[in-house]
Amino acid sequence: MPVIHLKARLSLPRQTALSIGMVLKKIVIANFRNFSHAVFPFGESLTVIIGLNAKGKTNLLESIYFICHGSGFRESKEEELVTIGEKMLRVQARFRKADHHVDFQIVVKKNDHGFTKVFTINKTPKKYFSYSRETTRAVLFSPEQITLMIGPPESRREYFNKLISFYDPEYKKRLINYESALRKRNKLFEQIVDPEKLQEELVFWNEYLEEQATYITLKRKEYADFLNAHPTVDEKSFKIEYLADEFTKTRLKESFENERRYRRTLIGPQKDDFCIYAKEVKSLKNLHHFGSRSEQRLTIFWLKLNEINYYRLIFSQKPILLLDDIFSELDHHNKTLVLKLIGGYQTVMTTTETEVLEMIDNPYSIIRL
Ligand code: ATP
Ligand code: MG
Repeated sequence: MPVIHLKARLSLPRQTALSIGMVLKKIVIANFRNFSHAVFPFGESLTVIIGLNAKGKTNLLESIYFICHGSGFRESKEEELVTIGEKMLRVQARFRKADHHVDFQIVVKKNDHGFTKVFTINKTPKKYFSYSRETTRAVLFSPEQITLMIGPPESRREYFNKLISFYDPEYKKRLINYESALRKRNKLFEQIVDPEKLQEELVFWNEYLEEQATYITLKRKEYADFLNAHPTVDEKSFKIEYLADEFTKTRLKESFENERRYRRTLIGPQKDDFCIYAKEVKSLKNLHHFGSRSEQRLTIFWLKLNEINYYRLIFSQKPILLLDDIFSELDHHNKTLVLKLIGGYQTVMTTTETEVLEMIDNPYSIIRL
């Protein structure tokens, strides 16, 4: 599959002929978090994972996310996914694609230097990028995502970085380039005192960083534009403002003295932020500062709906939805809203409350942990 350039793709009309995409049939996990060995079958529409606290509900959901995306959604280090005391994990999944099956596998082996990760599809080893083009996308809903509303700018940048990188490997590459060049540029401020010598040494890095930053800024802006083109959920309207901290020659000139004083780079996309507003009759309300907790949850729901929309727009397929214990936080109206949405998608959700089952009209299967 070719590299996807968001701008070109965004101008495409919405596809009407959606294929269901891939359907998860079964997952087999070995030494993944608290599971030493387990096999779980999944329903084609809704599967509910029920269990008391700390039984492994979130871990099972994470194993699905892992087989789809090649990484977990909670770990700070990849090795943390491997059961404590073990050296290797394996996750295998069987998906149905139209009338045939496709088998995916990821093996992580810990070693003295870190770990290795091997991806295979139908037993053929693959590089991460070609593996990820063949799997489906999992869209995760979890209560912790409220950090996007109440957490620091870093959590929002991380969210958009992960999302855009999934579609655009060029973005991922430039982000890595930018971050490593930024560290080198900062080192120069620490090492060189003489302003003229410093200016001279900075020329190369300034150009290089500007080139990477321009691309990063453009892609972030394009995704914000996409969100603004799809502003509503449940009769509420949202707006996202992309607060780009541009890395330009003019701004570099202006900040040089301050950068020397603080001995580090003071401008650029590492300082970007995003601000989300509710569109009210006569004004915009900043939802990070003024939103009630339920308004903030609905805002996350808006972001998540658009993750689904975006995947559908680009791949003309439906993603799998993973709902981690979100019902305990929602009122009746919002519970109904979520249940209405998931009707059209393969969904796996976790809950500790069996009462939720009474609200579900469609057929579902249950995994008890
Ligand atoms: P809750 O209802 O509280 O959300 P849960 O069923 O979702 O609980 P999980 O978050 O899946 O529980 O965690 C289940 C158990 O797995 C926990 O006791 C956790 O400490 C443990 N665990 C997490 N990572 C590992 C690991 N790498 N090795 C072994 N156990 C782990
Ligand atoms: Mg959990």
